[in-house]
Amino acid sequence: MKYYSTNGKAPQANLEKAVVKGLAEDRGLYMPEEIYKLPKEFFDDMKDLSFQDIAYNVASNFFGEDVDEDALQDLVFDTLSFDCPVVKVEDNIYALELFHGPTLAFKDVGARFMARLLQYFIRGERKEEKGERTVNVLVATSGDTGSAVANGFLGVDGIHVYVLYPKGKVSPIQECQFTTLGKNITAIEVDGVFDDCQALVKSAFMDEELNRHMKLTSANSINVARFLPQAFYYFNAVARLAALGHQTSDIVMCVPSGNFGNICSALFGHEMGLPIKRFIAANNANDVFYKYLQTGQYEPKASIQTLANAMDVGDPSNFARILNLYSKNNTLSPEETHQAITSLISGATYSDEQIAETMRQCYADTGYVLDPHGACGYRALKEGLKPGEVGVFCETAHPAKFKEKVDAILGTDIEIPERLQAFMKGQKQSVAMSKDFSDFKAYLMQQ
Ligand SMILES: *Cc1c(COP(=O)(O)O)cnc(C)c1O
Repeated sequence: MKYYSTNGKAPQANLEKAVVKGLAEDRGLYMPEEIYKLPKEFFDDMKDLSFQDIAYNVASNFFGEDVDEDALQDLVFDTLSFDCPVVKVEDNIYALELFHGPTLAFKDVGARFMARLLQYFIRGERKEEKGERTVNVLVATSGDTGSAVANGFLGVDGIHVYVLYPKGKVSPIQECQFTTLGKNITAIEVDGVFDDCQALVKSAFMDEELNRHMKLTSANSINVARFLPQAFYYFNAVARLAALGHQTSDIVMCVPSGNFGNICSALFGHEMGLPIKRFIAANNANDVFYKYLQTGQYEPKASIQTLANAMDVGDPSNFARILNLYSKNNTLSPEETHQAITSLISGATYSDEQIAETMRQCYADTGYVLDPHGACGYRALKEGLKPGEVGVFCETAHPAKFKEKVDAILGTDIEIPERLQAFMKGQKQSVAMSKDFSDFKAYLMQQ
């Protein structure tokens, strides 16, 4: 498959380059030249297939031209060692729980899949070069991404990961998920804020001397190998609802969104033929996409801190991919594109007060404990579902990841799953770093 850039000014790439580079030379996002439809028989049979088998079919449809069949199957099965159940919350509203992976975050699937795909390509390259050059992944995190990427890449040989995080700005539970791992994972505690971490990573990619010294890549959520595997979740959800006897053509999928990678994967699924009637993008107070739906104008702004902090994004990267998809690679006018997008996707935006109120109401009425991100999705369905429709919202994080907030809002003392507790028992190890690039560079030059 050939991949083109959403900015249209970079040469086409193959999958290997799109995965290793992440971003095209013109700073655009890579898009496949074609998205193949899956055959009707697959959709007819889907309800009888396992999550893993469904995912393999989807992965093969998308990556099959570029990855050996056996390797791809191994990769998918290794990535999906957990379930993603749909749980009935009330009549016609289901939670699609995406938090049963290793770090209890939906980002686990993309992180692991990308780690294994990168390893697959490096091995091929190493055979040709007969060299042993480690690939170094740099990732800046405000919490969730770092833990998913660190755990996804843990123990994958040939790859070393540096996780940069702002000192004192991530929760203790999040911090222990990437500082206690050891092996090929190094945590770097930056004396600064998240933006400083991101600036250090960007400077490193641009520094010629450093790039001669070591092979650098990113595990950003704009990477094709990181966002696309999230589509597996949506195929599985439709299959499970079909097994429960629901008409798949009535399904409304509601996705709490920040950088719009997750919903973008669902839209790619829709392009592959997944029968979803319509989508809702649920936002916290960061409402640029919501405003775009209302006005047709996209006006990025600085992000606002909210209760649902993994969605605090003021300029969602994957918006470029959505625009490109529905403008048919810029062949439609902005008005036609806006029309195509609004006929399939609607939006919602909620304040922190509304999020907290929704969590309390849902807990009181149904007993289901929402996390602040899932709460945006649940509320958007409650407000937007029409008669005859079946609503599914993504519960993107386990509520225990935000235990302090959730307990304060609901007056509960929710249990921390064993998997999280295990991380908390580990020994914290990190490298202290200033926010000056010269210090970070000097450190990397010694590695
Ligand atoms: C990353 C994340 C989101 C937002 O997902 P996007 O793909 O960036 O839209 C929502 N909820 C949680 C818990 C997350 O970690």
